[in-house]
Amino acid sequence: MKICAFCGSPGGNVEHIIAQWLIERMNAKDYPVVVGHRNAHSLKSRPAHGLKSYTTKAVCDECNNGWMSKLEVWFQHRMGMLVEPAWPKLACEILRLALPEKEMLAKWALKTVIMMDTNSMMENVVDGATARALYEGRIAEGLVVEVAQIHEKAVGGVLSHGFWVRNGGNSPQWQVHEGKMAFKAVIQLNHLAIRVFRAPGAHPSYYGPNGRLPLRCYPESQKPDDVDFRFHDLWEFDRVLELET
Ligand SMILES: [Zn+2]
Repeated sequence: MKICAFCGSPGGNVEHIIAQWLIERMNAKDYPVVVGHRNAHSLKSRPAHGLKSYTTKAVCDECNNGWMSKLEVWFQHRMGMLVEPAWPKLACEILRLALPEKEMLAKWALKTVIMMDTNSMMENVVDGATARALYEGRIAEGLVVEVAQIHEKAVGGVLSHGFWVRNGGNSPQWQVHEGKMAFKAVIQLNHLAIRVFRAPGAHPSYYGPNGRLPLRCYPESQKPDDVDFRFHDLWEFDRVLELET
């Protein structure tokens, strides 16, 4: 039997990783969803499946209908307009209203990444202590959350243990943190992308095309009007982040 990825109780009910309301709001019932695992040279992913069958059993009733449901209600209320098929003209205004509650965004993103992680065929990228902390209402130290507007609409995600790491003047190398304490995950919901990552002991730097940068939301949040956070597709957004050691 599967156990709950957060509290360790027996799981077992089939739950949607992308909530039903989100699928409807995205108008994405029949979208193929691709969630991949990235390493230096390849992206491994399952064959695309429909969002309705994108499920996990690794969550218990109590978590799912308790604290996780509260996060879902928050996300729907504050961020829902940003996942609709057309990117809203008032996007910056919506983000300005949401970001004072940036902890809620960070928790929603992290719980969604952990659910994606349970469905993947690869080793989990998010460690158990981080999931446990979230269950206890804490955001693990060092977590960073960023968002972007993505021109090419899609639904899916990329999870990985590795980063592009720049060391001095050398060209960036793909590296996996030794203790596997580092991870990076990107979720795309139509035109909205959310990145969650943690990289202990490293300094994130960004190489954005034409000065475009992710909008930092957590732990500190930037003003949406001050940043040009538009990217062409998920790959461009993923690639823009490098670490310096
Ligand atoms: Zn649970």
